[in-house]
Amino acid sequence: MIKSKFIFITGGVASSLGKGVTVAALGCLLESRGYTVALQKMDPYINIDPGTMSPYQHGEVFVTNDGAETDLDLGYYERFTSQEFSRAHSVSTGQIYHSVIERERKGDYLGRTVQVVPHITNEIRNRIYLIGKDKEPDFILVEIGGTVGDIESVPFLEAIRQMRYEHGSSQVLFIHLTLVPTISVAGEAKTKPTQHSVKELLGIGIQPDILVCRIREPMTKEMKAKLSLFCNVKEENVIAAIDIKDSIYEIPKMYKDEKLDEVVLGSLGMSLKKSNFTEWDRIIKKIKSATKVVNIAIVGKYISLQDAYRSIYESLSHGGIENDVRIEHIKINPEDLDKTNIKEKMKNVHGILVPGGFGERGIEGKILAINYARTKNIPFFGICLGMQCAVIEFARNVLGLKDANSTEFTPNTKNPVISLLEEQTDVERMGGTMRLGAYPCVMKKNTLVYSEYKLERTSERHRHRFEFTLRYRPEFEKSGMVISGTSPDEKLVEIIEVPAHPWFVGVQYHPEFKSKPIAPHPLFVGFIRAASKLIGKGEK
Ligand code: GLN
Repeated sequence: MIKSKFIFITGGVASSLGKGVTVAALGCLLESRGYTVALQKMDPYINIDPGTMSPYQHGEVFVTNDGAETDLDLGYYERFTSQEFSRAHSVSTGQIYHSVIERERKGDYLGRTVQVVPHITNEIRNRIYLIGKDKEPDFILVEIGGTVGDIESVPFLEAIRQMRYEHGSSQVLFIHLTLVPTISVAGEAKTKPTQHSVKELLGIGIQPDILVCRIREPMTKEMKAKLSLFCNVKEENVIAAIDIKDSIYEIPKMYKDEKLDEVVLGSLGMSLKKSNFTEWDRIIKKIKSATKVVNIAIVGKYISLQDAYRSIYESLSHGGIENDVRIEHIKINPEDLDKTNIKEKMKNVHGILVPGGFGERGIEGKILAINYARTKNIPFFGICLGMQCAVIEFARNVLGLKDANSTEFTPNTKNPVISLLEEQTDVERMGGTMRLGAYPCVMKKNTLVYSEYKLERTSERHRHRFEFTLRYRPEFEKSGMVISGTSPDEKLVEIIEVPAHPWFVGVQYHPEFKSKPIAPHPLFVGFIRAASKLIGKGEK
């Protein structure tokens, strides 16, 4: 019988209340008290994973070490805790139905009618138990995606209701995150939507133990008492989640001050071990005291969306924390860039980052931005597609191969400096078929990246189909580009750099998936350090 405690977090009233961050912050607080945690996300959509979804639909796709394309909340889970999670930590309705239907086709159900209850709900429960199987963490925190009242969430809620019934309130805890809106004219915070949301949960058989209420200002004692009375929740179990202005990394501290971890531990009969929060306190202090601002241009198609480059924005901020500077994002749509306006758009920019992406749209603008960074000595960081564009730019403007391109955009180009990975030639299906997850990268000594990592070998996460075309390597190396990182067999180029430039690095992988505020990624630290040297250096 599994001994881990289960904490389920549901959401009510509205979406986008920051459930993922709340789960991650609670994980952080429990770890700071010496407990082990595992975090899991349940997504009610039918897609197997978000890998095939447009950034307009889903924001960023976060990639785990074992190559799963997952919900971006897993990024928060990893950044706020000391953990790295795997495929099993991101579950969707699509995956659940897929396994049940496959089992039905194999005849595993022995002629029985296959139904939502018990077959789908059992599969959901199995996925939760699976998380605790090997290491049996002290706590398993499961975020139920969506908002209570959505049709799609019902099987998940039924599954967790059954778990509470079976394991009891000393092993299973329900936290409900809701919104307490403030009516702007009256300036009054309203508890009624929360009461209705709890009623909705009660209808499914779930009585929340703890209410976490998103609210603009601190909650009055009267409000807590009112919510306590009408929602059947102890007064001290009503927690205010006050809007944070400076940085999301203050959220664990905010919840600590509200005693969320104490209430959780108390409710589950666990001892209140001493909290060691020094590292987080140090980070918050550094965030608060930074005054200098570094302007980083992010040149990507999806800059209008908040979450499409979430891990990149977070990693930049980690680099900023380490260098005691604040990061200002200058978001540039490459489709708006041309030779006539680039100088104006890049005014006061201290560093240029081109993130990953797919498809031809915006490519020429990205190449132009990279050319600007290279020729004006502005620190440049190219990630995945950004690295590939840097290779194309160098081929066109330094090697003189004017028609150089990636076969992703121009399949018949005479100079395919970027081309399809050999292993990808026969791939027809879309989902989960890229080169995904962690692969080793070997670094050359006496290079910029070696001096940043201080390692000869590292492991980084990937998500791509195209690569540097190896037969061009000698030409690039003769012309001043250094291949500073490759796969151990040297068949795949992982890192390029231009030593004649103050800081010009392109990586085929996604370093942003491994950066944490407490352990910032060396390349983001180095990039921001180089960029901060341009502060006050005037217009380029
Ligand atoms: N489209 C490019 C490829 O498939 C880059 C992918 C990315 O940036 N994640 O290789």
